[in-house]
Amino acid sequence: MIMVLPRKIKETAEWKRDSGEFSVITVPAVIISLKTFARIQKDAEKILGVEGAAVLLYEAGKAAGKTWISRFHEEWGLKGDEFVKAIEEFYAELGWGKFSIDIEHLTISIENPFIARGYGKGEAKKPVCHFLCGYNASLITELINKEVDIEEKKCMAKGDRYCEFIVVTP
Ligand SMILES: [Zn+2]
Repeated sequence: MIMVLPRKIKETAEWKRDSGEFSVITVPAVIISLKTFARIQKDAEKILGVEGAAVLLYEAGKAAGKTWISRFHEEWGLKGDEFVKAIEEFYAELGWGKFSIDIEHLTISIENPFIARGYGKGEAKKPVCHFLCGYNASLITELINKEVDIEEKKCMAKGDRYCEFIVVTP
């Protein structure tokens, strides 16, 4: 029997204190604070420039999304709206924010995304959720089975009520 990845974060969180390891949904993981993630991003912006850091984080998000979303799609055995709903629930439980995925309009809105929360509301002049932007590109790519890129149009970190990600490639 093939071991499929479970969907529930809380029920599968496992601490191995003796070896100093932690995992969720059987996947080795680590917990970092929102502030630490934001700090790494802000330092990357200083070292690489705002654009350079944006590209780095976007590509990292895209690669991560590509790996995980296709595995979830395959292993959870869910299709269409059911899969979309499961994804929204999964990332809410993971603390990434409240996702609303609109396939018809190729748009993803996220309330309280972890990056903007860590960065600080109204702290930025431009959108900052580059990692999520890349991740969402892979998410939409998987859902419509067509390679896309995404831009973040609204961002909580620049004072918007939520972050909004829209497909830019035709
Ligand atoms: Zn944002």
